[in-house]
Parts: sequence; structure tokens; C-alpha cells
Amino acid sequence: MEETTEKPLDEIVEEPEDNSTKKEEEEIQIDSIPGVGPKTAEKLKETGYSDIMAIATASASEISAICEIGVPTANKVIAAARAMLSMGYETGLEVLEKRKDIIKITTGSNSFDELLGGGFESGSITECYGAFGSAKTQLAHQLSVNVQCPRADGGANGACLYVDTEHTFRPERIIEMARAKGLDEKKVLSNIFVGKAYNSDHQMLLVEKAKDMIKEKNIKLIIVDSLMSHFRSDYVGRGSLADRQQKLNKHLHVLSKLADGFNLVVYITNQVMSKPDMMFGDPTQAVGGHVLHHAATFRIYLRKSKGDTRVAKLVDSPNLPDGEILYKITSNGVEDM
Ligand code: ATP
Ligand code: MG
Repeated sequence: MEETTEKPLDEIVEEPEDNSTKKEEEEIQIDSIPGVGPKTAEKLKETGYSDIMAIATASASEISAICEIGVPTANKVIAAARAMLSMGYETGLEVLEKRKDIIKITTGSNSFDELLGGGFESGSITECYGAFGSAKTQLAHQLSVNVQCPRADGGANGACLYVDTEHTFRPERIIEMARAKGLDEKKVLSNIFVGKAYNSDHQMLLVEKAKDMIKEKNIKLIIVDSLMSHFRSDYVGRGSLADRQQKLNKHLHVLSKLADGFNLVVYITNQVMSKPDMMFGDPTQAVGGHVLHHAATFRIYLRKSKGDTRVAKLVDSPNLPDGEILYKITSNGVEDM
């Protein structure tokens, strides 16, 4: 067991960097798009289409429904937005340079971190899915503590925004984990901003309104635990599936823009269902369909093993080999075997 010393979190959590000017410049006023009047602009903003990129990449049916305009007009608005966008190509070298800013938050287990190439990565969405008790929520608690540590200790010197849809956030568990790391538990708790979501629209709103808080509170980690539970109960039956997927797509779009725009880590948890028609392999599958599959950059399948042992399997990643590791959940939190 490591010797732990109390570290004041005032020193650990840095002053927020001011990257607001850059962001504002990028977001050219949407009412400057030809064909978008103030009323339409208002409707677009209300529904989260607050910049030219969001409109340029939207579908005509989405825009038509939101703004109550015909599809041909919506097409014109989209074409105008596209014409206003700079093409945004970068050289591979520039991309490499930008990737140097990427932050990796430690899970608390070296083998888990190695599986992920160093930890939970900023700039993209990481999804963990698994059955009940597979440690999705435990990992959420652990990351919300670890993000507050200095960079040298696998943190990001930042705070956490925790969207709790299943009402399973437990401050008592945070205290346990903070103590195990020798951190001041009250400071740790005061840097976790918990939003209880009561339905899927509320959940979306909590994320859409996060932007101001991100700057003000120096948020470096956004957690949505769990992503799909409200969507599944709010949209029941085949008939509402298309609506659900459209909303989910929008929600994920907002999350991924926050991850990329503010260089922060987004961790979402997801439920599983079993595929009874599958003959070989593990019949467990994440819910959420293709929309979610494409939005999450890293997908990890979590499983329970004997006692406090847990299994994490990297299922999808752009640059890392798939693999499986063992770790454990103890009263201290996430640890190596
Ligand atoms: P669900 O799908 O129900 O949300 P989950 O994947 O989020 O499940 P968790 O809540 O993360 O599951 O995991 C719960 C498990 O974590 C418990 O069953 C227990 O094994 C372990 N656990 C929780 N608290 C502690 C603790 N204080 N000390 C040790 N282990 C704990
Ligand atoms: Mg849970």
C-alpha cells in the first residue's frame, strides 16, 4: 500500500483557462446564413443547432421539422451554411501536433490504463457497457476523483460534470475513494457537479447547458451514467425508434462537440441486451444501435469475474489493438490485481 499524504485541492485544481474567445470566433452568427431569419435562428439555437457546422451537417428533414419550413427551403439553408464553412483540412502533422494536447485520465489500474493507451482520452467519447454490477458506475466515481489530480498523477487538474440518470451517484463512495488517495474529501466533492436527469429531454438539456459551466468550473470530465436508460423508457415500441435515434444522435453530437471543442474527457455508460439468435461467442450486446456505435471512439465491455475481480475488454478503438485485462474493485476503488 502506498503512503498517502493529504494534498490541498486548491493547489490541484487550476484556474480555468480562457479559451472562450477562440470558440466565439468559430461560431459565426447563424442568422448570417442566407435564408435564416431571426425567428428561424432562435428555433435553431433553442434546439442546439447553434453554429454553422451543426447546420451544415444536419439533414434537411431535421431542419425542416425544427424550423417548420419546407424541405426545399431547409436544403437551401443547409447549402448556404456549407458554402460559408471553410473546408477545414489539416495536414497529418498538424493533427499530430494537436494530439499532443490530449489528456489521459487514469482509471486507477495500470493494466486498464495500458489497455486504453494511457487512460480515458480527452477529445473523444469513451463508452463502457456491461451487465449490472459490472462496475460502470464505480468507474464513473473513480474517474470523477482522478480527474482532479495533477497531470503527473494521471489527472487533468480539473473538475467533473456528472449527469446521473439512474440516481446512483453516492458521495459516500467518493469520500472512500478520495481518502484512499490521500485527498481532501470535501474539496473533491465540491469539484463534482451532479445533475440528476429525470427524463431524456432533461438529460439532453443538462448537457446542452453545460457549456458555460465548463469554462467557469474548469470541467475536464463529463460523465453520463447511464446514457440510454431514459431513452429506452421514454421511447417504447418500434414506432418511436426513429424519433429516439434522432434525439440520441443529437445528444451524442453535443457531447462529442464538447469533448472536441474543450478538449475534455466524455465517459458514457451503457446497458446491454442479449441477442438470443446469436449462435457463437458472447450474445451480450450494447444497446443504442448504430448511432451510438459510431459516436463512441473507444468502446469497452465490462464484465464481472470472481469476487472483486473485473474484466475490461477493449472492443473498438481507432489506434489500439483489441485486448482484455483484469482489474479489481475494492473499497479503495479501481485497482490492479
Ligand atoms: P448497473 O447496470 O446496475 O448500473 P454498474 O455496472 O453500474 O451496474 P456498479 O454499481 O458500478 O455496477 O458496481 C457495483 C458493484 O461494485 C457492487 O456489486 C460491488 O461489487 C462493487 N462495489 C460497490 N461499492 C463498493 C465498495 N464500497 N467497496 C467494494 N466494492 C464495491
Ligand atoms: Mg450503474
